Amino acid sequence: MKPSLFEYSAPSSVAEAIEALSGDPGAMILAGGQSLVPAMNLRLASPTRLVDLRNVSGLGETVIEDGIIRVGAMVRHRDIELNDAVHQANPLIREAMKYVAHVPIRNRGTVVGSLCHADAAAEMPLVLLVTGGSVTAEGPGGRRDIAAADFFQFHMTTTRAADELIVHANIPGLPKGAGYAFEEFSRRHGDYAIAAVAVIVQRGSDGTVDAASVGACGVGSKPVRLSAVEEAITGTKMSADDIKTAAQSSQDYVSAPDDMHATTAYRRHLLVNLVRRALSSAEQTPAS
Ligand SMILES: Cc1cc2nc3c(=O)[nH]c(=O)nc-3n(C[C@H](O)[C@H](O)[C@H](O)COP(=O)(O)OP(=O)(O)OC[C@H]3O[C@@H](n4cnc5c(N)ncnc54)[C@H](O)[C@@H]3O)c2cc1C
Repeated sequence: MKPSLFEYSAPSSVAEAIEALSGDPGAMILAGGQSLVPAMNLRLASPTRLVDLRNVSGLGETVIEDGIIRVGAMVRHRDIELNDAVHQANPLIREAMKYVAHVPIRNRGTVVGSLCHADAAAEMPLVLLVTGGSVTAEGPGGRRDIAAADFFQFHMTTTRAADELIVHANIPGLPKGAGYAFEEFSRRHGDYAIAAVAVIVQRGSDGTVDAASVGACGVGSKPVRLSAVEEAITGTKMSADDIKTAAQSSQDYVSAPDDMHATTAYRRHLLVNLVRRALSSAEQTPAS
């Protein structure tokens, strides 16, 4: 398989990249190429121009400031997976990253590329959603922040405008002492999730849950917050019965139709069990 013909630009600044995007409505950004290049080879994507970010300065940095982890557009999955400062600030990221493809793919694929690709079963969009993070887009009109809840629209569709570049993702650190967990089921290690669940819980000194953020991917057309689960577990002491009841309320969030991987009924069963496991393990894994 080979791609259709395309032009190639290798800008050296964000301004040049935006100019290249603005000048060609069929242009697409190339980051790590781990999703786009296979899609081009299969002719699922046929950009008229590739705008390669490899030479753009300033996009390869990860900075932690005021509790927010700012991940530049060319930061690879593996860079933040192995970054101990990132792990200290938000240990959920490393938990989730173990499920993202395989090491060679994580060596090339970027975090921001994964967010922009917006596969409904991808792990990093879910992490951005449950942590209440955002992305920063830059286009001809300047910069804007887009909250994760507003960014992911549908499978492989975001609210980024065609002439905008996502310059960085903003992932909040976890609140001190919060419990966290990431649970996933896929057919083979490294495959996209059939369903995955991320949990963050904050508990008071007597063990009562003060706040919970719970989300899932793979169960619909975009990652979703399981607000019924969040409400059900908040105010409880996370007993086995509390967790079981809260997990049960997740099944209505499955909107994916039957497909070659799983039926809707199976995904419901899976989601309830993944939520139960994630809440149980978050109860036992407070952040350092
Ligand atoms: C065999 C295999 C298994 C995989 N398994 C998983 C998995 O289990 N979970 C998972 O999450 N991913 C998986 N992936 C995908 C991998 O994580 C990709 O690296 C990631 O999805 C895209 O990152 P990239 O840097 O390679 O982006 P690219 O492929 O370069 O780009 C992806 C899309 O994002 C756009 N884009 C990239 N950067 C920007 C930007 N800064 N601004 C605006 N648009 C941008 C591109 O135009 C393109 O549309 C797998 C890939 C392979 C090949």
